[in-house]
Amino acid sequence: MSFDDLPVDVGVIYEGERVRGKDMFVELGGPKIEKKFELALARSMDEVEDERITIIGPDLKDMKEGSYNPFAILVEVAGNEIEPDLEGVIERRIHEYVNFIEGMMHLNQRYDIWIRLSKKSFEKGFNSLEYLGKVLIRLFKSEMSIIEKIQVTFITDAKELENRYDEAVNRYNERDARARGLKDEDVDTFYGCSLCQSFAPTHVCTITPQRYANCGAISWFDGRAAARVDPKGPLYEIPKGETIDDFRGEYTGVNQIYAEKSLGKVKEVSLYSAFEKPHTSCGCFEAIAFVIPEVDGLGIVHRDFKGEAVNGLTFSSMADTTAGGRQVPGFHGISIEYMRSTKFLQVDGGWERIVWIPEPIKKRVLEFIPEHVRDKIPTENDVTTISELKEFLKTHDHPVVNRWTELEAEEETAAQVATSEDGAVMVPGEFTAMVGGVGGGIEIIFKNARIYAEKVIIRRKVAGEKRK
Ligand code: SF4
Repeated sequence: MSFDDLPVDVGVIYEGERVRGKDMFVELGGPKIEKKFELALARSMDEVEDERITIIGPDLKDMKEGSYNPFAILVEVAGNEIEPDLEGVIERRIHEYVNFIEGMMHLNQRYDIWIRLSKKSFEKGFNSLEYLGKVLIRLFKSEMSIIEKIQVTFITDAKELENRYDEAVNRYNERDARARGLKDEDVDTFYGCSLCQSFAPTHVCTITPQRYANCGAISWFDGRAAARVDPKGPLYEIPKGETIDDFRGEYTGVNQIYAEKSLGKVKEVSLYSAFEKPHTSCGCFEAIAFVIPEVDGLGIVHRDFKGEAVNGLTFSSMADTTAGGRQVPGFHGISIEYMRSTKFLQVDGGWERIVWIPEPIKKRVLEFIPEHVRDKIPTENDVTTISELKEFLKTHDHPVVNRWTELEAEEETAAQVATSEDGAVMVPGEFTAMVGGVGGGIEIIFKNARIYAEKVIIRRKVAGEKRK
């Protein structure tokens, strides 16, 4: 496939390229624009005019340098094997293909897209969305042979985008609702996705009926359809294998896939825990479940949350800690749809462990929060500091408060760590210490250590297991 008629290069080597604010010509969508989306729709053959590119609103050359613009991409596809179950997977490929373009960066998905074009690529002549349309059409047709006809529409006109926005959101909701009837126990195959390995080399999304992909864009049905039509593609079957522990979501088949795809870096995963052997987090997660050690609970912050969460950290600083394809106990990337699952963080206590959530997300998932805790989980409108949070949880009798007495007893026990005759603290086995803090640091592993120190401060570790 040739892109010689384009003013910039196109290829996998550009995937992962970042366009910093100072280097950008324009931003399309992104956090400064309220409404934006990308949507793939399965159409019948006569509804699609093959390779048609339509631009509704100002083109790139009409935009002001440094500007932030409304943006939507509509990809309509047709073919004998095209079915609505494939829409989510086709849509997710937009992320990958845009990132193949020299000087273009695409982040996130669905109603959250964030695209930047660099000044350098604009100056080279990439001054029209026509070029973007050509890249998408050629890549989709060459990589997904089931697509027989494709047309692409870009919308940069705010009014037109507003008119079509609800249709897109309704389509996302329909897809999500469809996957809700099925339980993880009802199937013997999950689906894996490694699309984000270009950014997070050890990351694998395990997509189950009750644990939606981290990006919130791919359901179990989408995974099944994609693996069927393109078995060599980035989405594949994960046979569950033997059940190690169904409450924790541990399966031999899942562990085997992680060991293979992460090249041995991740060996065991517990699908329903944010603390113990958690599912890996790439960088596309819609939200983060983050530990608040002071109250032994978990907060949730989503990508669009402006300002600081109750722990004083922004989404982006916590995202640095969470992302990269690692298993970071207590910083766990999740989708919004996973919050609607009855298996949502069930190992850690589920909604009874959630102690803070932004109002917009709480509203979106309200009917899925068990009634007995609904009013006990504060938002940014109720509390803004940890001390206010503690007070709120106490006065509202949040279930997490019961854990505090158990923790006090645990701390006393921790203080009784054995010391040898020469005064060294004995730490049998292996333990890991992080030097640095949120946003980075180094990991030091001690084996059978003897520690000499004037003073030893032992901080409580938050246990992930639900207490009985
Ligand atoms: S977040 Fe997961 S499902 Fe979504 S594209 Fe990345 S790897 Fe695939």
